[in-house]
Amino acid sequence: MASNSNPVILIVGRLSGPKNEVILNILRQAPQIFKRFPRARFIVVGGPVKDVHRQVQKENPAVHFEGHQANLKPYYQKATVVIGAGRVALEAMRQKKAVIAIGERTYIGPLGPENVEKAKVTNFGDCWETEVFDWDRLAKDVIALLKDPQRRNKVAQTGHELLKAEYDMKKVYPQMATLYDRVLFESNLSQIHELPILMYHQVLEEEPKLAKFNLHVLTQDLEKQLQFLKRKGFETITFEDLLKKRIPKKPIILTFDDGYENNYDHLFPLLKKYDMKAVIYILADRKAKTNYWDLPEGEAEHQLLRPDQILEMQRSGLVEFGSHSINHVRLNTLKKAAIEKEVAGSKKILEQFLKKPVHSFAYPYGNFNEEIKAITRTAGYTFGLTVKHGPTRFGGDLMEIKRVHMFPHTTMFDFLKKTSCFYLRYRKLSGKEDV
Ligand SMILES: [Zn+2]
Repeated sequence: MASNSNPVILIVGRLSGPKNEVILNILRQAPQIFKRFPRARFIVVGGPVKDVHRQVQKENPAVHFEGHQANLKPYYQKATVVIGAGRVALEAMRQKKAVIAIGERTYIGPLGPENVEKAKVTNFGDCWETEVFDWDRLAKDVIALLKDPQRRNKVAQTGHELLKAEYDMKKVYPQMATLYDRVLFESNLSQIHELPILMYHQVLEEEPKLAKFNLHVLTQDLEKQLQFLKRKGFETITFEDLLKKRIPKKPIILTFDDGYENNYDHLFPLLKKYDMKAVIYILADRKAKTNYWDLPEGEAEHQLLRPDQILEMQRSGLVEFGSHSINHVRLNTLKKAAIEKEVAGSKKILEQFLKKPVHSFAYPYGNFNEEIKAITRTAGYTFGLTVKHGPTRFGGDLMEIKRVHMFPHTTMFDFLKKTSCFYLRYRKLSGKEDV
């Protein structure tokens, strides 16, 4: 049992990258805390344990680095206070532990009514526009919690209520399970703080007369956006790059749905000009010549890519193709066998045509549910793309990848916001997650 006299401060996080810096900074506060609680212990779970950590342990024998642990439960159970962000904070809250939230970007503090909203939008400190840390306050907050069991209970209660209200465990846990299934990605992709995936459709030279769904971007605007990405140091990648672990420091994925001929006419020249990559989602039905599915809704008719254009783009190495089903139908209106045909069938047809594996599937209309996700995974896709707004963090469900919507009048300022962590969280907070 953790008690006031022998308190255990548990820190969970990987010991590399920005997280490692944060953890080392937390441990620099240890002497202050030991002064007040001479029998306190810090337990750090996460790897890899390197010389710098062994040095800390040598200087402070009450600091223990446990390395990576598959089963965290016993650690949470013996903790008096847990320090962490994201998944760690969620799990600790589930165990009814008092959580001090701190992430890669900012310090949130012990969860209470006054900071619970900030905790949510920042993913417990992992996501914030600038780095803001107050190490002295952290030490004071730890001491205050260790001193006062009632306060600890209140913090644990706030966390537990937040969890119940916001993070439906039925939703969160299958996503975590997926994470562990995909160990392939764990070591590599978890290094990526955030991978923006932008969603476009048509690329047009001029403003169309009829654009019911506003699913276009003007060539000149797209060019400005590509220039902007280059200036900001982003490097465009494809899903194959992700799988082959060719991951630059600031990766971004540009996606274009439906496979319009205007992608060949206006996007492809820009990709060549700036040496950038894109992923285009096409229908497996090569007889489909236009966006016939949009016409009953009153959208203008646009030509789809011809087979020779698709193959030429693929040969350039700048364009990867993914599946957008066979018939562009709402999958949740279909029976299981028909869904399988659209999902697995389109993969087979496209792979025969492209003579390459197809790694990703963009759900038509962004329409999916648990069954559709399971079918997509079983069909052999590694990535399922939704039209949900949000950041892509590879600690989540790869069959439910969110994208950032790009609209015709997205200005450079909007664009900056759209590619920043803060904006994405802000939208979530303001309830504008789905469009
Ligand atoms: Zn579509």
